[in-house]
Amino acid sequence: MRAVKRCVKCKINKKFSEFSKHRRSKDGLASWCKECVIECCRKWRKLNSEKTKEYGSKQRRLHSEKLSEQNRKWRKENPEKVREISKRYRDANKEKIKELNKSSEGGIKKWRKENPEKVREYSRRRRAQKVAVEENYSEADENYTRQLFQNCCYNCGSTEKLCIDHSNPLSKGFALTRKNAVLLCWECNGSKHDKMPAEFYSPAKLKKLEKILGITRKR
Ligand SMILES: [Zn+2]
Ligand SMILES: [Zn+2]
Repeated sequence: MRAVKRCVKCKINKKFSEFSKHRRSKDGLASWCKECVIECCRKWRKLNSEKTKEYGSKQRRLHSEKLSEQNRKWRKENPEKVREISKRYRDANKEKIKELNKSSEGGIKKWRKENPEKVREYSRRRRAQKVAVEENYSEADENYTRQLFQNCCYNCGSTEKLCIDHSNPLSKGFALTRKNAVLLCWECNGSKHDKMPAEFYSPAKLKKLEKILGITRKR
């Protein structure tokens, strides 16, 4: 008896030992040689792992996009349910939220009280970020402006509740610089709001202001 068998796949005659056992076949051996089986498995795995990976990540991405889209849509269509859910959450976690607020609020309040200059600087920066303006107006710059205007509101002369005003307003994209900073009282600052200096001051006052700030106009 010749101890060889022809592999159905590679058509090579190989020793019995080169075939895996296969109980249900006539000779008790697999029809493909071990080598062909291994090769075939390798190819299949490679093909399928790439496929599964690609398919899986694509599906996951699509799925999560769909989910968040659905979530957004649902939240938009069900505002009272959203409110109810968040209210339920707040009610269920009252103590936790209270505790959290107390600890962070207390710390923040204390810090704000101790660092008024920094608070002003941060809030200016925050406003500047909103309109995408880069501001590097420092505490030293603020002191410069206060001295430049002799600690008086440039508009009304008040010496109380003074603040730094963006002469050309931040909302129109002007950053705070030494040449764009005017000392105003809260009231005047409020009524100036986001007007351009020419819209707020009289021509004479505007001219004087430009002189103080060292602005030279091209004529
Ligand atoms: Zn083979
Ligand atoms: Zn004023």
